[in-house]
Amino acid sequence: MKVVLEHLTKKFPNRNKKIKEDVVAVSDFTFEIPDGKLIGLLGPSGCGKSTTLNLISGLEAPTSGRIYFGEEDVTDISPENRDIGLVFQNYALYPHLTVEQNIIFPLQNLKGDKKMTKQQMKEKALETAKLVQIDPYMSRKPSELSGGQQQRVAIARALVKLPKVLLLDEPLSNLDARLRLQTREEIRRIQRETGITTIFVTHDQEEAMSISDEIVVMKDGLLQQIGKPQAVYDHPVNMFVAKFLGTPPINIFRGEIKSKQLYIGDDRICETDHGDMQVYVGIRPEGVILKKGGSLVCRLNRVEVMGRDTSACCSNDNAVSESIRFIIPSDEMTGDEGDLVAFDIKPSKLHLFDAETENVII
Ligand code: ADP
Ligand code: MG
Repeated sequence: MKVVLEHLTKKFPNRNKKIKEDVVAVSDFTFEIPDGKLIGLLGPSGCGKSTTLNLISGLEAPTSGRIYFGEEDVTDISPENRDIGLVFQNYALYPHLTVEQNIIFPLQNLKGDKKMTKQQMKEKALETAKLVQIDPYMSRKPSELSGGQQQRVAIARALVKLPKVLLLDEPLSNLDARLRLQTREEIRRIQRETGITTIFVTHDQEEAMSISDEIVVMKDGLLQQIGKPQAVYDHPVNMFVAKFLGTPPINIFRGEIKSKQLYIGDDRICETDHGDMQVYVGIRPEGVILKKGGSLVCRLNRVEVMGRDTSACCSNDNAVSESIRFIIPSDEMTGDEGDLVAFDIKPSKLHLFDAETENVII
């Protein structure tokens, strides 16, 4: 089931009563989520991710704009009748019910020809529990399960009715690092197996990049960029997106284009077609080659050994961020702490942003 958002806007009265202006949590969103795909909705805390999800689920009504599931306009349909599955950060299971009873719960209210017998419900619950690999624990109470297991029960409960759309709001945030990795791979597997159109909200760029068919990057209620994770990483439309994706983060320098040459301070970096202007230069950590006589000179402050690679922590008077970090293969790393070192920059890893608008220069 494809999901289409059309000029979707949600305003809230400001929680701070002294401020008269509304908070625009979601501003004029238009995009299409293709059928059967997993979309990662990504952005910093407070950017409007949950509000977007709540609009799609029907828990919130939009101030303006429309929502379509397939060709059907669902904007005025109540959440119960939208055929969605919802999973939140806190598992929100019924503590007094067993795993099986929790999973069965949504099936009990089905009406008409969808109505099931007790036996059918039990079978359906078991089938779904197997999908999320929680079937050995059907008779346990939530308190007898680990966080990861509880979240799998919550996912099973959301899936048991085979919803048209699965909505997950930071479902892994309460899990420890190892479980988070494992559970995100499981969500991906389950999504592939069921083919249910899924929207996965997270503030964790690595999480979104690793499991999404496409990512949607938001900031301050505004959609910034949509695309395949690698494409957004390789071609960010502005400095915010460039900085938000990637660990370690992209290094940003103040730069200048003069007579078709790009400079960072006195260092001439490369030729360019653009006219004279002030720019920000973004260089990905993996985007340099350590080389005597290289175009960009930095001071090497510290070398961190990471095994296969080393991390060269440097400084440069024109760096915007205090510390610059370049990833260098261990066998290519030379230079002592305190030395000046030079780097050549891989053209595909260099991004130029207008110093005023912070939009990428094309
Ligand atoms: P996210 O999920 O990305 O962290 P939210 O969608 O929860 O962000 O919130 C987006 C913005 O809308 C925030 O500034 C938040 O304070 C505001 N907001 C969310 N819900 C309400 C509400 N019920 N009343 C007032 N402001 C709200
Ligand atoms: Mg949220």
